[in-house]
This record gives sequence, structure tokens and C-alpha cells, in this order.
Amino acid sequence: MNKESKPNEKSARPSARPGNYGTHSGGTRSASHKPVSRAALARRKKQKRKAILLRIILLLAVIGMIIAAVVLVNRRRKADRPAETNTEQASAEAVQETSEGEIAAEKEETAEESPEETEETASEEASDRPADLPDINVEDWEFILANPWNSVEDYTPEVGTIEGIQLDTRIIPAMEQFVADCRAAGNTVFLSSGYRDYDTQTFLFNRKVEQYGDEDVAATIVARPGTSEHQTGLAADITDQYYETKNESLEYTAMYQWMFAHCQEYGFILRFPKGRDDVTGIIYEPWHFRYVGVEAATYIMEHELTLEEFLACYKDIAGPEKTE
Ligand SMILES: [Zn+2]
Repeated sequence: MNKESKPNEKSARPSARPGNYGTHSGGTRSASHKPVSRAALARRKKQKRKAILLRIILLLAVIGMIIAAVVLVNRRRKADRPAETNTEQASAEAVQETSEGEIAAEKEETAEESPEETEETASEEASDRPADLPDINVEDWEFILANPWNSVEDYTPEVGTIEGIQLDTRIIPAMEQFVADCRAAGNTVFLSSGYRDYDTQTFLFNRKVEQYGDEDVAATIVARPGTSEHQTGLAADITDQYYETKNESLEYTAMYQWMFAHCQEYGFILRFPKGRDDVTGIIYEPWHFRYVGVEAATYIMEHELTLEEFLACYKDIAGPEKTE
């Protein structure tokens, strides 16, 4: 019985309770005064040794853990330091927060780290893409690009009607859900403009040219025919039912704020973000949402990219610096 029950209690200082051993050998409490047999003594010694050994092992384990923790903390510190200096460098150099710049900063950062991590960077360099970039085919219909430097020419999607506007039939279910959920959150949504064919775009553009007397100025407000995203059928202008004005102030509506926060869940992005007209060619439009699918939309919105910057991660595209 002793042999079976004691091992579990070993750590509870068996030697501190000698009386219990006596009990085992058949005696009563007074048995502790009896002379202890040699065998019992030997057993006790053995158990003591075992207990000491166990403590030593425990102590070694604790020391090992402390050393491991210290090493980890030091590694972290080392890893953080180059990152800080990099951010400063990056902000000094970069005029805009392009994804390319981000990749470059990451490369510099990892270059100073351990050899394992450098290997990772090398494979990243080979594909020249951020590792977390969605695995998509940018030649698919969701990624068609219409901007001042990329004309879709006579691209004509199959369109359907939703609340008085037309959209590519393939995105109507997503738009329906987007609008329905925004309304369910207590907002008043108005679909103001969807698909526009080439002729309509020509009409709108010419009207702006008349208004401003300058084609280039007009082109910053209304896209030239063939370069409007509305011609793709993948974009919609969405305003508040009680606030239809299409200007920057729309961003203060609860409706816009809900849409901006949730659009990616339905596959939409805010296509012309604030202060990015140098990349998109179009002024800030807190009403124009574009479909790209959930995966791409999530990436674009999380990284605060424009569609141009996102596509540039996959392929060469014409931009303002590449014209002529
Ligand atoms: Zn629009």
C-alpha cells in the first residue's frame, strides 16, 4: 500500500510525516517510537533522493524557461529597431503610400534579420508581391480597369435593373444585399447612378466641357468616354435618399459611414478615396462604390489602396507617369 500510494504524495514532503510510515507497518500512532527497520530506512532514503532529483529537474526546467524568455525578448527588440528607422526613411522618401513602397520597406527590414527570414524575403522578391495578396486572376471581369489612362473602349456588359439603375447582372445580388443591410442598419439609401453606355458618357462629358470650357478640367469631374467606370456596369453612385448632393459633405452622412465601413463585406470598394486623385485621376467621391469581389475588396479596404495600386501588384498598368 505504501509503495502504491506514496509516489503521488512524494512532493508533499513524506519525511515530514514519519508517523504515517509506522501506520503502514501494522502499528498504531505510537509506532513512530519503534525502531525503524533497515528496509524502511533504505526506502525512505531512496524517496528522499527521488524528491531531491525531482526538485533539481524542476529548477532546471524553470531556468531553461527564463533563458528562453530572455532570448525571445531580445530577438523582438532587435526586430523592432530596424522597423522604426525604416518608417522614418520611408516617410521621408515616399510621396505616397504605394504598395510597392511597402514591399520595399519590408525587404529592407528583413534584410537585417536572421538568415531564415532573409530566405523568406528572397522568395517574396521572386514573385515581387506581398505574401498576403489574394490569389486572384486580375484578368477576370471583376477587375476590368477604366480610368483616364485605361479605356475600356466599347466594353458592353449584360446589364439588369435594380431600383431604377442598371448594373452588370453578375453584381446585382451583391448590391441588393449591400443596400438591404445598410437600410436595416437604419439608413436611407438611394441608388443614383449605375451603368452608363458610351453615348451617355459622351453626353455627360461634353456638358462638363461646356461648363468649364476646358477638357482637362472636365475630365477630372466626368470621365472621358470609354474611361468611365460606370461603363463597366460594376459601379454605382449611392447617396442618401434625403441628401443626394454629390460632394465631399456626403461623407458626414450615417449612410456613407456605414457603407464605407462595410462595403468590402459585399465585394465593394470606395473607388475614389480622399486625396488619391493623383493615382485614380478622379476627385474624392464618397458616393461611388465599385465591385471587385469580397476577397479583393477586403484587401483593398484594409490596406487603404486604390484599385490602380492593387492591380499594379499583379501586372503593369498605364498610369499618369506612363502616358506618352
Ligand atoms: Zn460614379
